[in-house]
Amino acid sequence: MGCITDVKYLRVGQCRHLECIAARGGRFASVEFPSLCGLIHHSDIGWILFDTGYAEHFFTATKQFPQRLYSFALPVDLPQEQRLIAQLRCFGIAPEDIALVVVSHYHGDHVAGLKDFPRAKFIAMKAATEEMQYFSTRPWRATIQGKLPNMLPEDYFTRLNYVDDFGSIDLPNWMSPFSQAFDFLGDGSLLGIPLPGHSCGQLGLLLPDAVGRPVFFVADACWSLPACREGRAPSSLVNFLTHNGNAYRASFMKIKQLAEREPVLAILPSHCVKTWKEFNGG
Ligand SMILES: [Zn+2]
Repeated sequence: MGCITDVKYLRVGQCRHLECIAARGGRFASVEFPSLCGLIHHSDIGWILFDTGYAEHFFTATKQFPQRLYSFALPVDLPQEQRLIAQLRCFGIAPEDIALVVVSHYHGDHVAGLKDFPRAKFIAMKAATEEMQYFSTRPWRATIQGKLPNMLPEDYFTRLNYVDDFGSIDLPNWMSPFSQAFDFLGDGSLLGIPLPGHSCGQLGLLLPDAVGRPVFFVADACWSLPACREGRAPSSLVNFLTHNGNAYRASFMKIKQLAEREPVLAILPSHCVKTWKEFNGG
């Protein structure tokens, strides 16, 4: 039976947002909005990514209209040393060593690096993928929704498995109010948990027996963990970006409950600079 032997929480580029957009009650001041992803080692299958953050492909994919609107609205900064490929190289990991990428959802800041991993299998939710396919022939709507279908590898669908096709298991009581998860490997070490609302078919990843403490990557189900603990959801100004507001609030409140009750669980959002610093000992 396999196990998780390493978990890293990496910063791969950033854009800037007004703080009051990321959380109600925040300042009317520009704050860093990093793109964070997970690098996980599993004893049986090797290196796994949870999302990819930004990548060079993002700049190529947003050169022309309408996609250029995306980078115009959210200017992205990706220093050389933050590029995922460069960070992996520092750990002695080649792009070909990535065996699996778990795709939380298809917003550009989560999937920009998928083309960099030629041998990886992919896991995503079926609903999210079908919506992405729908958008692939509707570039304006896709861009307004923050989706860039041209960032998927050409053979993406031949390497993709739907999380919905894996068996689901009951979660232990300490994960309440989450009760069910998809067991990717059948050994309970990598569990996919739907976190609907932010986008169509958003997927979180729970590592119940990660090194030292359990880890739960929650993608964009909350943007700021401190704000989530205080029950401060993102501003209604970003409602147009939210797939389903009621589902978003339900996922957000579940994470709030879990964060309050289980301080040992590392809840890792995709854009929370404070959580990233704390997890990395800063
Ligand atoms: Zn995001």
